Amino acid sequence: MEADVGRRYRLYPTDEQADRLVSWGHTCRWLYNTALEQRHFAWQQRRVTLGVAAQCAYLTQARKELDWVADLPAQSGQQVLRQLDQAYGNWWNPQHPAGAPTRKRRSVRLSVPFPGQAVHVRRLSRRWGAVSLPKVGDVRFRWSRPLGGTVRNAVVSFDGVAWHVGFGVHAGIKLPESHAQPDTVVGVDRGVKVALAMSDGRMWNRAFTTSGQERDLARLKSKAGRQETARRRRGVRSSNRAREVRAEIARTEAKIRNRRRDFVMWAANRICGQHATVKLERLQVKAMTATAKGTAAEPGIKVRQKAGLNRAILDKGWGLFEQALASRARTTGTRIVRVPAAFTSQRCSRCGYTDRNNRESQAMFRCGSCGYQANADVNAAVNVRDAAEAAPPVTGRAVRDRSRKASCRPPTQRQRRAALEAGISRL
Ligand SMILES: [Zn+2]
Repeated sequence: MEADVGRRYRLYPTDEQADRLVSWGHTCRWLYNTALEQRHFAWQQRRVTLGVAAQCAYLTQARKELDWVADLPAQSGQQVLRQLDQAYGNWWNPQHPAGAPTRKRRSVRLSVPFPGQAVHVRRLSRRWGAVSLPKVGDVRFRWSRPLGGTVRNAVVSFDGVAWHVGFGVHAGIKLPESHAQPDTVVGVDRGVKVALAMSDGRMWNRAFTTSGQERDLARLKSKAGRQETARRRRGVRSSNRAREVRAEIARTEAKIRNRRRDFVMWAANRICGQHATVKLERLQVKAMTATAKGTAAEPGIKVRQKAGLNRAILDKGWGLFEQALASRARTTGTRIVRVPAAFTSQRCSRCGYTDRNNRESQAMFRCGSCGYQANADVNAAVNVRDAAEAAPPVTGRAVRDRSRKASCRPPTQRQRRAALEAGISRL
């Protein structure tokens, strides 16, 4: 099997180029949302599914009438419409976990897509390359790693801190059938205190947020909240000062995100390089981090505590780690095995005695039967390593997703009539 790979480089546009790219990024988001609305409308009014070709024709029309739409390179606009079509394709595919396409909010990362034939990449020196983009010309980027193939597509994005250009590259890499060291098995336990504990006793952790950043974020977010309240009360559009506060929040969050991603990729890379089989607890991160709020009639219990735990789980990047493992495992031939999560933290890995009192504290495990002592997370990782593979869950992904997807379908005739009667004329 051959693989396509993603390559991402730090991009250094001039101020002029950056201004133009920012405005294109907003246009792309507008286009995506408008095209989505158009597809909703066509379906609800005429039971017609609009495809890419039809929407591209509308785009051509819009380019004639609106200068700021015409400013966006036509190929980027078409690429956005293709992305929306892909989002619909994923939604309709029962094998794919994606739900119905949703609007892109203003807070998502700015990005401008280009098809491969619209960009041209060349190397300037040992450290620098340039990508020529339609209308803005050559933009320099840091040549931090070899491209290794032909460019299929490109995405220019801004995450609040820096610009990047990502290339989808047809690399033609041969994927290995099996791992170089076939008999190496490791169990990994994901924790809240220590991010990753391995069955061989290694423990990896890193703080992604500094205490200063935590303080800054709390201050900035409450400030943004006050500004938003004031804006609503006065019924005006956002101010420059409010925009600057939001940009500062985005910058800080992007730094934290980058640090987390760096750690997760580094760990996945190491683990996959050293082991043929990686065993993980089967965790439903999404279900685990659901809110405990409950309803007004039946308020939940320990809502604040649960919110704190959710934050801690999301902060450690458990889901992201699994994604990184899966992606890295492709190129090393590593097998990822998920095992049932129950009792791994309460069972003694030496004699099998299971009791909640075995876990003396967050960090300490002491067996009440044989007296075995170990770090609690490492003990759990050993249990994960020795556990049998989990049977597929009773409610399979495809089954569960189909029911979830059913609820996202456009409204039925009766629902629309009821909505109309309720005075919601938008449906
Ligand atoms: Zn024991």
